Amino acid sequence: MEGERQMHQGNWTCSGCNAGISELPFEPRDTSNLMCRDCHSKSRGNAPRKEKQMYQGDWKCAGCGSGISQLPFEPRDTSNLKCMDCFKKEKGF
Ligand SMILES: [Zn+2]
Ligand SMILES: [Zn+2]
Repeated sequence: MEGERQMHQGNWTCSGCNAGISELPFEPRDTSNLMCRDCHSKSRGNAPRKEKQMYQGDWKCAGCGSGISQLPFEPRDTSNLKCMDCFKKEKGF
């Protein structure tokens, strides 16, 4: 286990959200395709759970018809939303 990881300081821009990046856990070779921590974890599909923003709303599940009051993302297409149960079923959990 590494106790302290060395961070590389710099002045880069995230290619995903254009946020400034001041430090990275590695020295970037290609600076044209850098991602901030948020975008990086999003692209890997494992955004840290505690920092996840929940969107409140009044939607309906397209699968079972039950109400959905919050989602971990802002839905663009509200006609095909799935509640957590149906979503898990669909994914085969
Ligand atoms: Zn970003
Ligand atoms: Zn459902």
